[in-house]
Amino acid sequence: MNEADSNKLASALDQLGLTKKENAEEADLVVLNSCVVRQSAEDKVSHRVSISQEFKKDRPDQMLVLMGCMVGPQSENLRKRFPAVDMFVRPQDFDPLLRQISETNDLDIEGCISNYAQSDPGISCHVPIIKGCDFMCSFCIIPYRRGRQVSRTIEDIVSEASILVHRGVKEITLLGQTVDAYGHDLDENVDLSDLLSHVNEVEGLERIRFLTSHPSFMSEKIIKAIRELPKVCEHINLPIQAGSDVVLERMRRPYTNDHYRRLVDDIRNIVPDVTISTDIIVGFPGESDQDFQDTMKIVEDMQFSKVHSAEYSNRPGTIASRQLKDDIPIQVKRERRKMVDALQQTIQDTNNRRSIGGHHAVLIEGRRKQQWYGRNRNDKLVYTGTNKENLRNSIVEIKIEDSSPWSLTGSVTKTNLG
Ligand code: SF4
Repeated sequence: MNEADSNKLASALDQLGLTKKENAEEADLVVLNSCVVRQSAEDKVSHRVSISQEFKKDRPDQMLVLMGCMVGPQSENLRKRFPAVDMFVRPQDFDPLLRQISETNDLDIEGCISNYAQSDPGISCHVPIIKGCDFMCSFCIIPYRRGRQVSRTIEDIVSEASILVHRGVKEITLLGQTVDAYGHDLDENVDLSDLLSHVNEVEGLERIRFLTSHPSFMSEKIIKAIRELPKVCEHINLPIQAGSDVVLERMRRPYTNDHYRRLVDDIRNIVPDVTISTDIIVGFPGESDQDFQDTMKIVEDMQFSKVHSAEYSNRPGTIASRQLKDDIPIQVKRERRKMVDALQQTIQDTNNRRSIGGHHAVLIEGRRKQQWYGRNRNDKLVYTGTNKENLRNSIVEIKIEDSSPWSLTGSVTKTNLG
């Protein structure tokens, strides 16, 4: 989401006539887009702001802006911590910054900026469709920083998708913190499946993905849309976060282990060739050995295509931070995370081996270590080293000949599939 926000701002600045500098020190304007989802991310941004402040001592004319989730509704504390920062911008709240730059440069913002679609998007592009989140998971800082859920209209999103396709995009990933809750806040009676149907009609677009779903909103209507709409890829990221109902309740995740299992069964029955990935937090306050074993069990049973694991990180201001003691020692958190990752590695190794001999349509994104690489519809990374011709940005069929836990490798059997 932050990357998409940065790209949108870059597009607007480009339309205002600003030129990108490779080196931040040479720029007249520096915008640091921040993530505070974990303490380590926040530490990284704080360090970067400190470096930029030091540099600004020699370049007092440089405008330094801190944007993103570090900036809450009250920025007084940030002002004290970072006195050299000229402006604080909340996530996706670009207007005050753009107006200031327009005024300084005597530009008419309305006349300059036609839309925020990424100006140089590449083959695959993220399109945020929802701002904020209506949940208050006890560990999560995002609703405090990005605010409540606001969905964009279908018309607005389809218009952006069409512009992006004109700029060469073939694959779009629709983004929301709870993407399957799309439309619930709009007056019209629409949901994610309706949006997918409209985006599916965009001429020239080849693939549609969406991130991240919430188990409480993944309806049968959405699952059937994935099966029926040809451009929608068969992959769902469906965070469970923990395998224990006790921990889920403390996390304020409003579903149970059993509900999640039945939902995954339904998805796999309706879309048999789907892959499902998940997010898991280990070491949540009060997580017992048994709770952790419940998480290991669900990882084993669900056979996810990928697990994004994280150690619980206390975020000041959240419900968990205010009400629960961060009582799992760091070594135990680390050990538990390693155990989840090791189990998942074995699962991915076994599952990827099953792909050997199959043919996969792969959208080639680039070249790395003498090999072309891209993703299949199930969001698996696929390499091919056998083809010398330029495959970049095309969809090709690859016969899988080898695998590792993290990727598949094979030879091109057909080109120009899209
Ligand atoms: S649904 Fe996601 S973004 Fe929203 S509060 Fe929970 S973890 Fe945070």
